[in-house]
Amino acid sequence: MSTMKAAIYTGIEQISLQEVEYTSPAPGYVGIDAKQTGICGSDLHSYFGHWNQSHTHAAGHETCGIVVELGEGVTGLQPGDKVAIEFFSHCGRCLYCRKGYYNHCQERRWVSHNAHGGFAEYTNAHISGLFKLPESMSFEEGALVEPLAVSYRAVGQANATYQDRVAIIGGGTIGQFALAAAVAAGVKETLITVKYDQQAKLAKELGADHVVDIGEMNLKECVDELTGGLGMDVVIETVGGGGNFDAAMSIVRRHGRVVLVAGYFEPLEVDLSRIVWSEAIVTGSNCYGYTGMDTDFDAAIELISSGKVDATKLVTHRYPLDDVVEAFRVSADKRSGAIKVHLCQ
Ligand SMILES: [Zn+2]
Ligand SMILES: [Zn+2]
Repeated sequence: MSTMKAAIYTGIEQISLQEVEYTSPAPGYVGIDAKQTGICGSDLHSYFGHWNQSHTHAAGHETCGIVVELGEGVTGLQPGDKVAIEFFSHCGRCLYCRKGYYNHCQERRWVSHNAHGGFAEYTNAHISGLFKLPESMSFEEGALVEPLAVSYRAVGQANATYQDRVAIIGGGTIGQFALAAAVAAGVKETLITVKYDQQAKLAKELGADHVVDIGEMNLKECVDELTGGLGMDVVIETVGGGGNFDAAMSIVRRHGRVVLVAGYFEPLEVDLSRIVWSEAIVTGSNCYGYTGMDTDFDAAIELISSGKVDATKLVTHRYPLDDVVEAFRVSADKRSGAIKVHLCQ
């Protein structure tokens, strides 16, 4: 039996490097040498215990790696190919898959479900969720395709165009990439809320027209001043919690669009009359699938490889897998200056 290293949650704010069995890919799956993996906000939710932790398998889904082994029946990829991995597999046969909404697949399985994800030396992923990357793309860029695809979809769910003023709540990875995707889409004006200096600095570099530090400025007043009291055409909420939902509703114009792409853990007391009176459209954005004719993953790959989104600007820290404990500690505390923390192998 050969073994490999895998970083596995062992309790609240605890993760440890363990020696686990290396398994060859099952039929339909692909064995991947995980080269670089980002720590996602959702990984931190597991780390803090807001979401379930697997105590048997490594998490990690923002992964770029090299194909090493093909499971039975896999076609279209070869050992040596550089790939990015969607967080979930899909069946291709159910109602939602057939309609082009494969992110709602009735048989969708998370990458780390009964297999090790990207916080391990090797991961097994289903062929349905794999995208071959251009050779010119670095491992670091490849590991940023997944979160950019999340943000790209949120901008797509809002149908944001050159006519729209777009506000983004939250200066973390998903907020920053939503900003970058909105800028790349050529929207009229962008505003983003931030809490930390590194978030403000990055947002300016990514082309934000207005950066609102919520510790120092009043968001509603800023938007009123900017729009003559009208409100934003589009608001993308990336943080979660009732305060942020209310903030989004307070700055969207009548008939505007609000897209929620955040982790909401608890039922909230919210004022729904705002939706009634404003006729604002409020919708969610769930991972990625198709936006128009293209998958959000293909769009994200194109945005990065064309240089339209300078994705690696988000990576503030890089650690070897051996330093996973430190990597999580830094990622969990944004006062460290962290935006995106990567594990490299
Ligand atoms: Zn993620
Ligand atoms: Zn399906």
